[in-house]
Amino acid sequence: MQNQFIMAGVMGWPVAHSRSPAIHNHWIQHYGLTGAYGLFPVKPQELETAIRGLQALGLAGCNITIPHKVEAMKFMDWVDPLAQRMGAINTIVRQPDGALHGFNNDGFGYIQSLREEQPTWRADTGPIVILGAGGASRAILLSLMDEGATEVRILNRTRSKADALTEEFGSGVTVVDWSERQNALSGAALLINTTSQGMHGQSSLDIDLAQLPISAVVSDAIYIPLETPLLARARLRGNPTVNGLGMLLHQARPAFQAWFGVMPEVTPALRQAIIATL
Ligand code: NAP
Repeated sequence: MQNQFIMAGVMGWPVAHSRSPAIHNHWIQHYGLTGAYGLFPVKPQELETAIRGLQALGLAGCNITIPHKVEAMKFMDWVDPLAQRMGAINTIVRQPDGALHGFNNDGFGYIQSLREEQPTWRADTGPIVILGAGGASRAILLSLMDEGATEVRILNRTRSKADALTEEFGSGVTVVDWSERQNALSGAALLINTTSQGMHGQSSLDIDLAQLPISAVVSDAIYIPLETPLLARARLRGNPTVNGLGMLLHQARPAFQAWFGVMPEVTPALRQAIIATL
């Protein structure tokens, strides 16, 4: 068991809404470790100074959230190849020699969450439809391809962003026009919403599910609310559903392991603790 007090945290702007302190401090207590995880509100123009400060302050590292995920890469000494492909990092790990290494665990979080709730799920079961082409979409797409997905259809309101996202992939990834989203659901085995539509305070996603097979898993990256209008509609028509909380919880695990030396578990108690904050 470690004796040293270990500090980590999350840098974002704004960052007060982040559930990461609740997740990591729950694990610190659960595993009887000595340390703390804090919130660091960092303005964009102060990001470099704040990141360089990790070394001076002796922090084990930190999470990086909106709006710093892309910019923070510039200040790393090394970036994990998967994070490089994603073009963004969400975790910094300070090495014993002081070097800063960047990682992105969002895709890992999504896949782990899906596996946990749908244990028989396989990436090559059938076509996968991804709505949205932002940061979450890119992380999930790359992880699905690494898992062996063979057919992915990407749709985004702004089509050019979906085209840019899929440039590096072969024929297995196709872009479908947003206006065709109803038809794109035909024969799908997995539907993933990575748009912000359906989030608390936003309008719900405008999509007719009639063509989606009842066997298709419907998942949402959003976790506030826990059940988005999309998930509620899918559940009522009989589709299995997966909300965004598991992605949030599982993405935190590799970072915790890197900083505190323990690969933590997502337990019902942790879920309940975080749900109580939503
Ligand atoms: P982002 O990069 O800003 O992307 C936002 C996406 O939403 C874009 O594709 C955007 O389309 C689309 N969108 C926005 N308004 C729309 C509308 N009115 N109609 C249709 N599409 C619309 O954001 P992100 O970082 O990818 O995050 C996306 C969602 O995932 C957020 O709700 C976030 O909370 C969630 N998320 C969850 C986790 C987790 O751990 N569970 C992790 C990361 C993100 P345009 O390109 O046309 O603007």
